[in-house]
Amino acid sequence: MRFAIQSRNDPQSNELMERAINYLTNFGLVVDEERPEIVLSIGGDGTLLHAFHRYTHMLSEVAFVGIHTGHLGFYADWKPSEIEKLVISIAKDEFKVIEYPLLEVTINYQNSEECYTYLALNESTVKSPEVTLVMDVELNGRPFERFRGDGLCISTPSGSTAYNKALGGAILHPSLQAFQLTEMASINNRVFRTVGSSLVLPAHHKCILKPVKAEDFTVTVDHVQLLHKNVKSIQYRVAKEKIRFARFKAFPFWQRVHESFIDSDLKE
Ligand code: NAP
Repeated sequence: MRFAIQSRNDPQSNELMERAINYLTNFGLVVDEERPEIVLSIGGDGTLLHAFHRYTHMLSEVAFVGIHTGHLGFYADWKPSEIEKLVISIAKDEFKVIEYPLLEVTINYQNSEECYTYLALNESTVKSPEVTLVMDVELNGRPFERFRGDGLCISTPSGSTAYNKALGGAILHPSLQAFQLTEMASINNRVFRTVGSSLVLPAHHKCILKPVKAEDFTVTVDHVQLLHKNVKSIQYRVAKEKIRFARFKAFPFWQRVHESFIDSDLKE
């Protein structure tokens, strides 16, 4: 089996990476950065985001697994002390693959046929560089609201525990094929009105954001932030691609939520 390792590049993650490479090659696995079948991410959830973006062109061929060298992560849910157990399970092919939905982001530009499409594992956000963001929100081709405020966050189910949660959005189970639209500080008074609640949209729905005046926007896709000029529209929907995770043990999502946000010592 071919494997690659993405490290957060701190001393602990790099030391663990060296150990993992030794163990895996001793079991006959081969390092292949170009065409890995399994990618080990060593660091945090942020490290797994970097690994995901490195291999977005071959998502159907690769399975990810995350080891956390800091706190427990949502994607990085293996402890460093479990490395030997993990390596043996990989070498013996003792894992199943589970898939999580992704978000497709398509940006169209004024006076141009060109458009860019990105895949997000956590979320995409839209902000206006200098002024209040003003965007018309369309759902499935129908006008829904005119948003005025700091920005909008469109997240995947697995990304719902990240930025979306900090904005007061709901946590979605990653088995749901859906995406969530959450507001950042909307202006609401007698003149300007938005729904206020987060919206959870199913896989066959589309959300399109259309600029009202300004056409330059800061758009993030996970940790990647770019300024897009002359934007005509930004379309969001559940992507047809999925991320595949190698699962070796049961660690239910709600237990990870509990251990990450409530109490790391789960009581039965
Ligand atoms: P960062 O600022 O270094 O990390 C942001 C934090 O988000 C880290 O603690 C990271 O965990 C955690 N995180 C990432 N994905 C998560 C998930 N799915 N569920 C729960 N926590 C998660 O930035 P980064 O490492 O480049 O990551 C970019 C991400 O930061 C974005 O996708 C966005 O979700 C998040 N972010 C959050 C806020 C906020 O909460 N106010 C603001 C901006 C961006 P690790 O420590 O394990 O890496």
